[in-house]
Amino acid sequence: MTATLMTGTDLAAEMVAKAADRARALQERTGVQPCLATVLVGDDPASATYVRMKQNRSKKAGIGSRSVVLPAETTTEELVAELTKLSEDPAVHGILLQHPVPAQIDERAAFEAIDPAKDVDGVTTRSFGAMAFGEPGFRSATPGGIMRLLEAYDVPIAGAHAVVIGRSPILGKPVGMLLLASNATVTYTHSRTTDLPAIVRTADIVVAAVGRANFVQGDWLKPGAVVVDAGYNEGNVGDVDFAAAAEVASLITPVPGGVGPMTIALLLEQAVDAAEAQTV
Ligand code: NAP
Repeated sequence: MTATLMTGTDLAAEMVAKAADRARALQERTGVQPCLATVLVGDDPASATYVRMKQNRSKKAGIGSRSVVLPAETTTEELVAELTKLSEDPAVHGILLQHPVPAQIDERAAFEAIDPAKDVDGVTTRSFGAMAFGEPGFRSATPGGIMRLLEAYDVPIAGAHAVVIGRSPILGKPVGMLLLASNATVTYTHSRTTDLPAIVRTADIVVAAVGRANFVQGDWLKPGAVVVDAGYNEGNVGDVDFAAAAEVASLITPVPGGVGPMTIALLLEQAVDAAEAQTV
């Protein structure tokens, strides 16, 4: 392997430790403990694991958690009502709706029921718009975590060509906007893109956000490219063929231990930001 590993574990631990200090200070000063509400709809085991991980990390950081679990047959109206209730509850400072929700639910309507002041996962159109215009607001957690990782590893972004594979509202689209805001030249690709390998070969930075195990091949990469693998597939496998890519890239994120811990760290940091803003 010739690439250097871009790990998120230590950086995320530092971020969580700082968030924990701030949570403690807020509680000492005001008696208010930051509280993150998690909402899980249905019984998808992977989603249940993600939510449990987020709750455990919250607890370790001194952030209280409120857990709402709804049945798989929940309607859009029922989910919107639950999210509205949490949005209006002064004891809840941040709200995370675990994505994806069951197919019968209008996910966008559900996200929009989250008060933007509590949108610590950065999923509302208000948060997206603020991020796209460079205004203050909560960042989408995984994209925000990716940017912090690139900054920590001093990856030159201004003027670089970044190719984002995937355009989901929680990952591909916002990470492209953040790269653009940092003056990268951004190309979005998706399932209708023709000759994806040729486009990826022109990238200085590749962000893989596809949801298909080992999808990005080593011979798609320009030598020295920086590879961010946001994918997380069954068996702890990313969206990039790691062994092959690590022979060509200059920097590469491992899966697990790359983007995943950064996502949770940013979520917790933003939960404390929200609690401070709503308390002080
Ligand atoms: P998603 O909503 O399913 O979106 C996948 C994207 O990939 C879509 O835009 C889709 O294009 C595109 N795509 C699918 N097949 C393609 C192909 N053959 N060529 C090019 N693009 C293709 O997934 P997501 O929620 O963004 O998640 C993506 C991955 O990131 C998953 O592995 C997920 O587990 C992982 N993830 C990780 C974290 C973390 O914290 N590490 C957080 C969230 C997600 P269309 O738009 O054309 O359909």
